[in-house]
Amino acid sequence: MVILIRILVNDNHIFENKYFGQMKKIDHIGIAVKDMAISNVLFEKLLGVPHYKTEEVESEGVLTSFFKSDSNKIELLAATHEDSVIAKFIEKKGEGIHHIAFEVDDIEEEIQRLKKEGFVVLNEVPKIGADNKLVVFLHPKGTNGVLIELCQSIC
Ligand code: ZN
Repeated sequence: MVILIRILVNDNHIFENKYFGQMKKIDHIGIAVKDMAISNVLFEKLLGVPHYKTEEVESEGVLTSFFKSDSNKIELLAATHEDSVIAKFIEKKGEGIHHIAFEVDDIEEEIQRLKKEGFVVLNEVPKIGADNKLVVFLHPKGTNGVLIELCQSIC
């Protein structure tokens, strides 16, 4: 049996450096949960590691809990009050993947680049998020329904 695999990469220019390195890697995946205590136990069982950090982002009404398994990071997000973005998200969509966060070196430069590409940046001035990061979010309407976070470590 012959298996034909057609590689659909004809565009040589995608190998040019400029297409690599801006959205460096997925920093973490954010998951909205109703009850942090229950979900902490669940994810400890799932990943086989304890959560290593809990942080409250008061301005957003969000409690976060972080897990690290090898190079993968999961951020659980629970609402601390009913007006929180997480409470609204869960009300609309239920628990589940809330955002995917990409690490960037220069968040200001990325904001400008993505705006030029037509993406809608939700907060043009980076906010201080959990885990000692500057963060901005892209509107999910422009990204196939996925909320994208850009994050840059604060040195
Ligand atoms: Zn995040």
